Amino acid sequence: MASEKPAGITKVKSKLRSGSVRYKLTMYFILFAMIFTVTLWLLQTVFLENNYESAMGDKMQLAVNLLSASYADLPELDSELFMQQMVNLSTENDLYFYIEARDGSFTITSTDEASTGRLYYYAKDGVDLARERLVASEGKPVTLKLTTTDKADSLTMVYAAKVESRYRPSIHLFAFAPLTPMGPAVGILAAQLLRVTVVSLLAACGIALYISGRIAKPITDITRSASRLAEGDYEVEFQGSAYDEIDELAGTLNYTARELSKSEALRRDLMANVSHDLRTPLTMVKSYAEMIRDISGDNPEKRDEHINVIIREADRLSYLVNDILALSRLQAGVDVMRLEPVDIQQCAAGVIETYQVLEEQDGFRFEFVTLPQTLMVNADRHRIAQVIYNFLSNAVRYSEESRDIKIEFEMEESNIKFSVTDHGIGIAQEDLQSIWNRYERASSRGQRSREGTGLGLSISKEILERHGAKYGVKSSLGEGSVFWFSLPVLKEPA
Ligand code: ADP
Repeated sequence: MASEKPAGITKVKSKLRSGSVRYKLTMYFILFAMIFTVTLWLLQTVFLENNYESAMGDKMQLAVNLLSASYADLPELDSELFMQQMVNLSTENDLYFYIEARDGSFTITSTDEASTGRLYYYAKDGVDLARERLVASEGKPVTLKLTTTDKADSLTMVYAAKVESRYRPSIHLFAFAPLTPMGPAVGILAAQLLRVTVVSLLAACGIALYISGRIAKPITDITRSASRLAEGDYEVEFQGSAYDEIDELAGTLNYTARELSKSEALRRDLMANVSHDLRTPLTMVKSYAEMIRDISGDNPEKRDEHINVIIREADRLSYLVNDILALSRLQAGVDVMRLEPVDIQQCAAGVIETYQVLEEQDGFRFEFVTLPQTLMVNADRHRIAQVIYNFLSNAVRYSEESRDIKIEFEMEESNIKFSVTDHGIGIAQEDLQSIWNRYERASSRGQRSREGTGLGLSISKEILERHGAKYGVKSSLGEGSVFWFSLPVLKEPA
């Protein structure tokens, strides 16, 4: 069943596609630059005049308030000082003042002082108009804009206030300010803003492409590696990047790749083993079944014999399948050890119990030597029991006339050592190493037709190594063998 590749897997090149990080980020940056420049445009062109006028109005109001306070509040008015203050305010703020007593007794203008006077012409029309508004506003200050009579195209802003005093005649105070025409300034600003707009748009594109490239590149690399993984390359390495999120993604994918490779190894092992090992017993089952059909079917004695072979081979098959599965899973690292404190002597007692039946049936004698105290080790209960079972079943299977089997626990420093001693056929020195490998069976005499898969010791080895246990065998041909392992004893909690 061929599964289809997702579209993204082959097209990993990050062009500027409308859904890509690059495209989106570039668009967002351009949008940002546009909002920024449009705001700038509005402030510098459309609202420039308004802003300028309101700033000017504030300035005039402040100056008039200062002058009003000086005029109204002091019992003694030093006219020199007052004039000086007016001239200063006029110079600093580019203003022109005109003061008239409401009873017509005097007028003062800030241009009286020739050296500092402002160059604003007295605009009689302006004063009249402002006065009119002031009277109409019932004394509240007024602001107005007017075109001066003598300079037709220049605008002047007027701020007028009525000032009353307990000490002297009340006055009308007028402040005039020339308004610079904004037209030419706006033109210059517009030309500059055009350049700013172009530069900021280009910068936005550039920065967006750079940043998106930095983000998109590792993602593109990961996608490329993922497509290799999908094609079965489990060695592929996912590279992280400067970004935490992408790092985490790469880490997860690396973990996934390792796990996939484990199950792939398991699958390969199983396939190889199953096809290799199951063939023989299956052929036997088939041949004996055919024999019963063609030859021995009518001969009860022969038929039973053949049926027994079939049953035995079927049993062998089932052991084989279990062992192959266990070993493949262990070696592929699919099975994890569940380590916990285990009373190792009690665990062994449980296994030995199943063998007790052989004492009566087949004349075996089991000697079980234990230590009085409870000894705990850190182990996977079921797997360590499997090792004990394997050692014991070997001792039984490879025993000959002498059927004494000794199972012993003893302390070796801080370790507890478990051993199974038999007086069976023994193992030749040259085979002592290889028997721990899968499918290795001692080549020497005495194998005969003993049942076995050649996997028991390699399963035991795998389990013991995963426990970090020491293990070994001592044996001499014809005399028997001692299989042992030892594990550190857990300290009793105080
Ligand atoms: P098997 O299923 O063949 O017993 P094992 O992996 O358990 O597979 O053992 C591998 C080989 O080691 C056996 O085939 C046998 O030759 C040898 N062996 C294991 N235990 C003993 C023993 N107690 N006495 C003699 N030979 C043994």
